[in-house]
Amino acid sequence: GFRKCSSLRFLLTPSSERQFSAQTGSKLEGKVALITGAASGIGKETARKFINNGAKVVLADIQKDQGHETALELGPNATFIPCDVTKESEISQAVDFTISKHNQLDIMYNNAGIACQTPQSIVDLDLATFDRVMAINVRGVVAGIKHGARVMIPRQRGVILCTASVTGLMGGLSQHTYSISKSGVIGIVKSAASEMCQHGIRINCISPMAIPTPFVIDELKNYYPGVDYEGLVQMVHGFSVLKGAVCEPSDIANAAVFLASDDAKFISGHNLVVDGGFTSFKSLSL
Ligand code: NAD
Repeated sequence: GFRKCSSLRFLLTPSSERQFSAQTGSKLEGKVALITGAASGIGKETARKFINNGAKVVLADIQKDQGHETALELGPNATFIPCDVTKESEISQAVDFTISKHNQLDIMYNNAGIACQTPQSIVDLDLATFDRVMAINVRGVVAGIKHGARVMIPRQRGVILCTASVTGLMGGLSQHTYSISKSGVIGIVKSAASEMCQHGIRINCISPMAIPTPFVIDELKNYYPGVDYEGLVQMVHGFSVLKGAVCEPSDIANAAVFLASDDAKFISGHNLVVDGGFTSFKSLSL
């Protein structure tokens, strides 16, 4: 797990020292997207890239103040709606809100998720925490697919995306509860793809490796109370096995733009791993 990274064998340049350019394009011109967990991190960065590619985006998140702030920052093509993905009625409302505002829903991105702080051993697994994580990471995704499909099936087109994780592909990278929830997401995507294909709807997930979003930094603070924010960011970047690169929200956002666009028109039921070779590296070293 995260404890293993203390050696920082692969510590690389933090993102703050690297150069970025705003990437724009028209891959999603005229499209409307709904993204859950979009107030922060991967969801926010994806919303930005979707908009930069011509889409209108509805941001759904449980954090109201931050959600409104993010929508303001992203400009007139972003709208925020409060939504707790554990409540089916709120997901349903977010979908209906998107349709009433923009008359269509082309891309439903079920990205909201949380980490968890359960004990390492499965013997000590806190099943109340397990239920809470499943309610967001698995049930929330299922509800998003259900209500996205509800409005896409009549149109016989649409794209559904979900955020899984490399932890859903192999053991030993995270806490059991989180890993199990993310294997669930990968499984849901396969299962749903087998039905959605007959309606012309594509569904895929993206599996990132560790990125220092608030989600991961908050979790790491519990393990390393003496390490400051920049130290924790460097610790996460230290997981990278790809020389000269670290995993950033924009890497996931770029994958999402691709999967949402017609460039991926024949890709469905796929789990796109964005990990700089991390899972391959880990497999070989076992
Ligand atoms: P983040 O904490 O920056 O963003 C997650 C967002 O989800 C937050 O804005 C949060 O308010 C929202 N959220 C939490 N519970 C919610 C609920 N019940 N209803 C609606 N919104 C809710 O973290 P992130 O890293 O951007 O995480 C996004 C997704 O990426 C998650 O599914 C996470 O599991 C996955 N992921 C993250 C990493 C990583 O290292 N950061 C790696 C693999 C997968």
